[in-house]
Amino acid sequence: MGYVIAHAGCCACGNVFSFNPNLVPSIRMTAGHPDPNGQREPVCEPCVKRANVQRAKNNIPPIEILPGAYEGADEYSIDWNDNRTLNSKEL
Ligand SMILES: [Zn+2]
Repeated sequence: MGYVIAHAGCCACGNVFSFNPNLVPSIRMTAGHPDPNGQREPVCEPCVKRANVQRAKNNIPPIEILPGAYEGADEYSIDWNDNRTLNSKEL
């Protein structure tokens, strides 16, 4: 079995990080701005944790970080014909 590890810049902070494209939290963005019709862009773990602190202050449920979201994915779990940026759960 092989593994796939995706690398990209976080759409919130710009830092390059590694993630599982099936599990990483994402936000739809266009030209650097949130857009419900944009492409899914990955969010790094520190940004999700910072967002969850703010969400807690505002009584908003936290963003769930799925186990393995920032680890490699089984190569057979990736849909290589899917032309979307990510398959992950959107924020
Ligand atoms: Zn970030």
